Amino acid sequence: MRPVSGFPLPEGVEPGRVAVVGSGPNGLTAAALLARAGWEVDVYEAADRPGGACASAPVLGEGTVVDLGAAGHPLGVVSPAFAELDLTAHGLQWVHPEVPMAHPLPGQDAVLLHREPEATASGLHDDGRAWLAWHRPVLDAPAAAAADVLGPLVRRWPHPLTMARLGLRSPWPAAAAARAAFCGDRARALFLGSAAHTILPPTRPLTAAMGTLLGGLGMTTGWPVARGGSQSVVDALLSVLAAHGGRLHTGRRITHLAEVADVDAAILDLMPAAVAALGGTGMEARPLRRLRRWRHGPASAKVDFLLDGPIPWRDPRVGGAGTVHLGGTPEQLTAAEAAVAAGRMPERPFVMLCQQQGADPSRAAAPAAGSTVVWAYAHVPHGWEAAVRPVVEAVIEEHAPGFRDRILRAVETGPSALQAWNPNLVGGDIAGGALDGTQLLARPRLLSPHRLRAAVRGSGVPGLYLASSAAAPGAGVHGMSGAWAVRTLLRDAA
Ligand SMILES: Cc1cc2nc3c(=O)[nH]c(=O)nc-3n(C[C@H](O)[C@H](O)[C@H](O)COP(=O)(O)OP(=O)(O)OC[C@H]3O[C@@H](n4cnc5c(N)ncnc54)[C@H](O)[C@@H]3O)c2cc1C
Repeated sequence: MRPVSGFPLPEGVEPGRVAVVGSGPNGLTAAALLARAGWEVDVYEAADRPGGACASAPVLGEGTVVDLGAAGHPLGVVSPAFAELDLTAHGLQWVHPEVPMAHPLPGQDAVLLHREPEATASGLHDDGRAWLAWHRPVLDAPAAAAADVLGPLVRRWPHPLTMARLGLRSPWPAAAAARAAFCGDRARALFLGSAAHTILPPTRPLTAAMGTLLGGLGMTTGWPVARGGSQSVVDALLSVLAAHGGRLHTGRRITHLAEVADVDAAILDLMPAAVAALGGTGMEARPLRRLRRWRHGPASAKVDFLLDGPIPWRDPRVGGAGTVHLGGTPEQLTAAEAAVAAGRMPERPFVMLCQQQGADPSRAAAPAAGSTVVWAYAHVPHGWEAAVRPVVEAVIEEHAPGFRDRILRAVETGPSALQAWNPNLVGGDIAGGALDGTQLLARPRLLSPHRLRAAVRGSGVPGLYLASSAAAPGAGVHGMSGAWAVRTLLRDAA
């Protein structure tokens, strides 16, 4: 594999003072990059712990490590910003499960996405060759594909040929692409499961892009987890920050810019409506209106389980998968995602399940040693309030009879609890705003998406930059929204 390239920043810019509001992976990436460039950096975080939706905590009891948000890191491992910051030199270790992903199907063996493309193809019977052909642009150059995709749409792409090849596969609804490219349900289900990371029905335009990218990355750079929990990504970013004199202030919810006075710029790891509600920005009415119009999409409802042993999968090979897509057949998956998008709770929602422990045994240490930590969430309508644990259990039980009998403890975190923990998760939307229509391409606008107001040296008015997952390239733990916000700031300040 070609090594992941870094993310060079404009040099020779006189450092200034910056406040970063929000310590999610994007806020911390921005903070670490600026501290490394000599800026005086203060990070303000509303919660008592840093990391936003990349934090981990022992919520299933002593000895357990539970990822409160992100669990799998297909994007983190290929992030140019993380490579630039050399996070592995700051303690981050990516560890790979035996198989990146499995998709159990009713009445037949599960379909597996292997790190080896040929092994994946061989499980897809007649669709093997078509599967490899469809994912070829990513298989040929995974790091280039990631570098192209992890940034604003309108820019000079670092690898235009790769982007052009990806572009041919991207505009289509995943369901239509899967029907056209593959003849059997096994390949179609495998593809739609990856496309479902958009949290949209696969009948929507552009959902094929996610299916292609995640499938291709899974077969090359993999879908690793972070040893010790996703919190290790946060800890590595904090380590870079601290090494360069940056400061973190937890328990500081910022509601007015005056609370972070005397800075040259503020980098906001916030949702657009929260930026619009922030006092003292002095932003004009038109951009404020655009920020307030930002739409949030379907929600996720999380359920973490502690089991007295491994999940009793009907197909034992599923036990080796880091991520399991419990979406059923292409028709079942499409119907469930369509219902959720229409605001209805499906009988059988799409459930995403992670078994980080296979790659990282530290997830259950004494006194929890011998037990299994299971991370799962279901796609549910925006703001859904009713309990989802029974339905999540039912979906898992369908493919792992006896699962329920193994449960020692379960913790449910529904959409409102997610938002109460992290205000960026509006109504349980974990994607930083619906990934459909114009919002997929223009996050939150097509040109200069990270600049809210340019920093002008000596003006006394701080520049404002958006660094959250509402800004390009969107959701996921990759830090690239933060990195692009920094690149924009440094260009403005040059
Ligand atoms: C349940 C769940 C599962 C996920 N699974 C995955 C996955 O497997 N892989 C993956 O790559 N991604 C996953 N994601 C998405 C990923 O976690 C997010 O896209 C990513 O964390 C976004 O980073 P961020 O820095 O933009 O914001 P966040 O991580 O949301 O952090 C924002 C921070 O800002 C703070 N904040 C908000 N308002 C204020 C304020 N006014 N003042 C001060 N601080 C404030 C918040 O408290 C929070 O700490 C998941 C998310 C969730 C919730």
